[in-house]
Amino acid sequence: MNYMPPRSGSLVWMTAARGRVRHCWKAMQMPVRGQDNFLIFGSPRIEEDEIREIEAVMRSGWLGTGPRVDQFEREFARYRGAPHAVALNSCSAALHVALLASGVGPGDEVITTPLTFCATANAIIHAGATPVLADIDPRTLNIDPAQVRASLTSRTRAIVPVHFAGRPCEMDALMSMARDQKLKVIEDCAHAIETQYHGRNVGTIGDFGCFSFYVTKNLMTGEGGMVLARREEDAALIKVLGLHGMTKDAWKRFGDDGYKHYHVVAAGFKYNMMDLQAAIGLKQLARVEAYWLRRKAIWERYMDELSVLPIDLPPRPAPDTRHAHHLFSIQVDKVRCGVARDEFLDAMTAQGIGIGVHYLALTEHPYYQQAFGWRPEDTPHATEVGRRTVSLPISAKLTDQDVTDVISAVRLVLK
Ligand SMILES: *Cc1c(COP(=O)(O)O)cnc(C)c1O
Repeated sequence: MNYMPPRSGSLVWMTAARGRVRHCWKAMQMPVRGQDNFLIFGSPRIEEDEIREIEAVMRSGWLGTGPRVDQFEREFARYRGAPHAVALNSCSAALHVALLASGVGPGDEVITTPLTFCATANAIIHAGATPVLADIDPRTLNIDPAQVRASLTSRTRAIVPVHFAGRPCEMDALMSMARDQKLKVIEDCAHAIETQYHGRNVGTIGDFGCFSFYVTKNLMTGEGGMVLARREEDAALIKVLGLHGMTKDAWKRFGDDGYKHYHVVAAGFKYNMMDLQAAIGLKQLARVEAYWLRRKAIWERYMDELSVLPIDLPPRPAPDTRHAHHLFSIQVDKVRCGVARDEFLDAMTAQGIGIGVHYLALTEHPYYQQAFGWRPEDTPHATEVGRRTVSLPISAKLTDQDVTDVISAVRLVLK
């Protein structure tokens, strides 16, 4: 067995945990991992060369947007096979300016999925438009093209599909609908840096692809994001909107070829990426495929070793696609497991394993209920998944022993 011996310092914590999770108090006496060895969900893998690179940027004195951001944009565009890339400080920012560059504004409706991070819907709201939810297909956990079709109105201006967990959406169906209806497509690729669909890289199929380099994502820069654009003028507009609406980048203004005046041509935003972030991103990009292979191996081990338990495992990758393996989400059903999802979350935490929830359906949140009248029953599939889902750790940082501990903890908690 691989139990961590309980340490005296964790006694109070174990007592608290025992009170909350009575059904497996026995396991609480010997958590799979002690509190001092807690497995943090989504903790990124960071290697020596990026630490050295950060030091080099600090010593160079150029921390803001500069040559490293330029290089990161070029290398990311090359990795994804995209004509244009603009680095920003988050995927939330990327979605916002991509929507603006799509011409989305007040009076427009934008269709997206209820099973996503709130940033997807908030970006639509910040663009002045109204988000409209099309429920997921419970077999894929992605937006259901039939539901998108049913949600179209004369005001629909764009679709924001989210490649949930790294599994590509049904882009053929969505793109043909977009062509017929003259809609813009902004792909939310926050989970999907390595994802491919029918031989194409996601993020290059729609008009825009938006990526996140938040600390838990497949490639991280602490905070960070990127927009891929198909058209050069869209990329240029995003660049301007992302830096106050100014026509010249700061690092070009303050360069050694003399001061250059800028002109403000739009009321833009402070969304630019720093060289400090791009320095991390360049090192992470060089390892993105190695990390993907590592997560794929973890994903497959979970699929094998959890298959005997009374839980639903994530949908397997579809043929002729590449899954990014960003999340490994199981579904815990009280009737089948004897444990409700929230009890499972507490019990895993007590076992020293950090877990995540991706996501409570957007229709569960009070803001959207008040602003748009959404109710959980409107999106029954996303609501049900959101109430049963639990994401297990799947960072490339995990050791084989970490993965063994996660599997042991799931087995113990479900016993
Ligand atoms: C993380 C995430 C975002 C937001 O990314 P940030 O870089 O944190 O702004 C948007 N959409 C989805 C699906 C995400 O998971």
